Amino acid sequence: MTSESNLSTPVADPSRGPSSCRSCGQDIQMVPTEASAGARFMPLEPASEDGNIVILNGRAHVFPTASLAADRFPGEPRYLSHFARCPQAGKWRRS
Ligand SMILES: [Zn+2]
Repeated sequence: MTSESNLSTPVADPSRGPSSCRSCGQDIQMVPTEASAGARFMPLEPASEDGNIVILNGRAHVFPTASLAADRFPGEPRYLSHFARCPQAGKWRRS
C-alpha cells in the first residue's frame, strides 16, 4: 500500500507508530486525521498547551485555534501539527 515514489510523505511508515521527523529529528507520532476519515496521517508533536489538535478515537481533530479545542474538549491533551513547527517543512510540503 505504501508508495515508494511519494517523496513528499514526511514519515516512512505510519504503522511504526511513534517516530521522529526525518527532516529535523523531532519526536512525533503519526495520527490519522478525522478530516480524511483516517485515510491520511499527520505528524503530531508531543502534547502541548497551545496545541489546536485533539485526538479522539484515535483520530486527530484539527481546530482553527488552540482555545477552541480547549473549549470543546476541556481536559483532553492537545497537540500541535509538526507541519507547523518543522524547520524543514517546506521540503516536504507541496501546495
Ligand atoms: Zn521536522
